[in-house]
Amino acid sequence: MSFAIGLTCISCGRTQKIEGMQYVCPDCGGNLDVEYDYEAVARRLTRESLARDDDRSVWRYWDLLPLRDRSHVMPIQIGWTPLYPVRRLGRKLGMEKLYLKDDGRNPSASFKDRASSVAVGKALELGFSVIAGASTGNAASSTACLCASLGISPTIFVPKAAPKAKIAQLLVFGARVFAVDGSYDDAFDLCTEVCREYGWYNRNTGYNPYTREGKKTVSYEICEQLGWNPPDAVLVPVGDGNIISGVWKGFKDLLAVGLIDRLPRIIAVQSEKSGAIVDALPAGREIRPVAATTIADSISVDLPRDGAAAVRAVRESGGTGVLVGDESILEAIVEIARGAGVFAEPAGATAYAGLKKLRETGGVGPGETVVFLVTGNGLKDVQSAMKAVGEPTPMAPSLERFKEYMSKEG
Ligand SMILES: *Cc1c(COP(=O)(O)O)cnc(C)c1O
Ligand SMILES: [Zn+2]
Repeated sequence: MSFAIGLTCISCGRTQKIEGMQYVCPDCGGNLDVEYDYEAVARRLTRESLARDDDRSVWRYWDLLPLRDRSHVMPIQIGWTPLYPVRRLGRKLGMEKLYLKDDGRNPSASFKDRASSVAVGKALELGFSVIAGASTGNAASSTACLCASLGISPTIFVPKAAPKAKIAQLLVFGARVFAVDGSYDDAFDLCTEVCREYGWYNRNTGYNPYTREGKKTVSYEICEQLGWNPPDAVLVPVGDGNIISGVWKGFKDLLAVGLIDRLPRIIAVQSEKSGAIVDALPAGREIRPVAATTIADSISVDLPRDGAAAVRAVRESGGTGVLVGDESILEAIVEIARGAGVFAEPAGATAYAGLKKLRETGGVGPGETVVFLVTGNGLKDVQSAMKAVGEPTPMAPSLERFKEYMSKEG
C-alpha cells in the first residue's frame, strides 16, 4: 500500500487522482508532483520506528514513497550513502561543519539510482513491458543497472557524445542503446515521441513525476545521519533541476510529518556554460533555454525539464544560485579527491566549486552546517579528470634510472 493520494500540477496547481501512468498536467502540460497523506504517514513513520529499521537503503522511507508493493524492489543496495564530515576541506574554506554526501557510492555510481529505483519500480507495478529513457548518461546507466538487477533490458537514447564509461555501462548491463546524433535535448524529445508511439514507459527526467520521489530520499538520509538536526544549507549541482526539486521536497516532507522542525536553504550550482536555472532565479525572470557547452556532461542541459520546480525550490527555501566556470569545476575534482578521498565526475564536483565561490562572497557563513552533494563518481569520466592533473612521470624499469631521477629531483 501507499500513502500517495494525488498528483498536483506544479504550474497551475490542479490536483488529479493517481490512475495508471500520468506524466504531465492534462490542462497546462506542467510537471506533476506527488501528494501524500502526511497525517497518516506521521502516525507510522517516527524517529523511533526508523531507529528500529535495519533497512539501509532508499526503501527505509517506504511510507513516503509512491509504490504499492515491495515485489519490484531491486536486490541491490540503493541509497543510504555515506555523509562524511570533511574537516580538511572545511578548514580550507574556513568552515566548522562541512559535510559531503557521497552519492557516487550507488550501484551505477551516481545519484540517478535514487530516481531509477522509484521510476522503474512504478513501471513494473503498472505492468509496462518496455521501459525507455533518454539521458546525458547517468540516468540511462542507472536505469540499465537497476533493470539488469531484475533481469530486464531497457531501451535507452543517449547523445552520441556521452562519455565512454557511461556508454560502456549501458552495453554491459544489456540495455538496447541508441546513440542519437544530436544533443541530450534531441535524445529526450525522440524518446518521448517513441514512447507515445509505442506505448512504452517513459522514465525521462523532469517528465516522469516519479524520479523526483526517489531523489528526495537524499534529504531524508541527510537529516537522519545528522541526528535529525537539519543542515543550514545544501548545495546541489543542477542540470534539469530534478535533483534540486527533489532535495527540497525531501526536507518539506520531513517537516510535514514532524521529523524535523526547520528547513535548510537550497543552493543551486550550475556551470556558467549551462546556467538556465540560475539565470531564471531573480524575481520576474523566466526560464529561457541556453546553448549548453559545459565539460560537466551530466549538467549540460539546454532546456531544464524540471526548471519550474527547481526555481521554486531555491526561492521558497530562501536559497540562491551560483554559476561556476568549467576550470573551477576541474579544480574542484582535484580538491575533493585530495581533501576527502572522494573522486567525483565533473558534475559531481560542481556543488563544491559553488561552495568555494559562495564562501568568498559570504553567501555561506563559517559556523553554518553545510552539506554539498557529490552526485557521480569520477571513474565515469576520466578524460575530464585528466585535464586537471597532467600525466605520470615516465620511468624505465631500472633502479639506476630511478636513482638518476631522484638525484635530479633533489
Ligand atoms: C543528473 C545529474 C545531475 C543533475 O541533476 P538534474 O536533476 O538534471 O538537475 C548532477 N550530477 C550528476 C552526476 C548527474 O548525473
Ligand atoms: Zn497544470
